[in-house]
Amino acid sequence: MKKVLFFGLLTLTLSLTAQTDQRIYDIIDAVSAERIEKDITTLANFGTRHTLSDTVSQTRGIGAARRWIKAEFEKTSEACNGCLNVIYQKDLVKKGANQRIVKDVEVVNVLAIQKGTKYPNRYIIMSGDIDSRVSDPTNYTDNSPGANDNASGMAGTMEAARVLSKYKFENSIIYMGLSGEEQGLFGGGGVAGYAKEQGWEVIGIFNNDMIGNITGVDGITSSTDFRIFSEPVPPTETEKQRKARRFYGGEVDGISRQLARYVHKTTKTYMPEMNPMMIYRLDRFGRGGHHRPFNDAGFPGIRIMEAHENYTQQHQDIRVEDGIAYGDVLEHVNFEYAAKLTAVNAISMASIAWAPPAPKEVKIGGIVEPSAKFQWSKVDGAKGYKIYWRDTTSPTWDNSRYVQDVTEFTLDGIVIDNYFFGVSSVGADGFESPVVFPNAIFR
Ligand SMILES: [Zn+2]
Repeated sequence: MKKVLFFGLLTLTLSLTAQTDQRIYDIIDAVSAERIEKDITTLANFGTRHTLSDTVSQTRGIGAARRWIKAEFEKTSEACNGCLNVIYQKDLVKKGANQRIVKDVEVVNVLAIQKGTKYPNRYIIMSGDIDSRVSDPTNYTDNSPGANDNASGMAGTMEAARVLSKYKFENSIIYMGLSGEEQGLFGGGGVAGYAKEQGWEVIGIFNNDMIGNITGVDGITSSTDFRIFSEPVPPTETEKQRKARRFYGGEVDGISRQLARYVHKTTKTYMPEMNPMMIYRLDRFGRGGHHRPFNDAGFPGIRIMEAHENYTQQHQDIRVEDGIAYGDVLEHVNFEYAAKLTAVNAISMASIAWAPPAPKEVKIGGIVEPSAKFQWSKVDGAKGYKIYWRDTTSPTWDNSRYVQDVTEFTLDGIVIDNYFFGVSSVGADGFESPVVFPNAIFR
């Protein structure tokens, strides 16, 4: 009898402390700065990876670079008994599509797809860019190593594939190299369109663009700060949804913002030495990145990148001028830092890929009542749900209540007017879906 009681207590303790999972720490430890350094070096040594550059040479130009990336993904796949399906996705972009497309070009992306065991049509995506540029965006012949922009993000994506392909996940993961970024986000547009055609359910995309620079123009050197950019609400929202926001809230709670919060929380939980900065905007001021075409298609997507940029080392002809060494060369990349940001991606993808889907519908009620009420659609594979709330001025989901075996709940004494709310699904291992902001109301 005593034994049974003791065992019961032990299980209770375990289930209460199962907020972290050893596998996530193993993933962090498995990310190799040495392999990332090797891959960034190889990418930089293709001379130029400009989207319009040579595609025939085996040693120079974007053709050689993408064939090498594909071969590396295939090697990773061999090591996991063919767990990755490696494909090219391509679109012909005609001369004059914009001023930066000075001749017809095939924009070719490389996708390595790790199919999920339970939800194969649900995809979490990590991307880096293959292409590079110098001062003139149409100069496709001069040396353009693009070591940080964006061999760093590409190498991180390849390394994440090596690490995560050792595991099986319920949801699918895609490791992706995109082209045409510098010419006008063509590669991302191509894959986003392909995803729609294929009817993929995209959980989200982590666009990694420049994850290797630690000393910025702001004079700050930090190997722990990094930024997570997310737009406030989807550009695809309807007029009706826009109007509803005035009355029910959600100005800072779009689907991409929830994804940003997910990465922020996963980092704080497992890599507390890092300093994730959630930036409440689509991207840097007036500048772009490859998560945007996915946002345009209605998919959640964020940009993960260094916090302190150095503009003399981006989009520059390699030269020395007034004592300043311009150019995006290997010497400026911090490989340890790129490895840390790769780990941030890898643990966030693993957590999402091990989690059940989020509830599709979350209804909120409680107008002129003392308590906030919730109803949500049942999720197959969810062990329970977490109702989150936070002060309206807080960026993070600070309070939560775990519930099991129900699809409705009342938060006694929590007045609906004073907080923002959301609901997530929780799987058997404790991994959680992103939070869903209420998308319907009830009385
Ligand atoms: Zn760039």
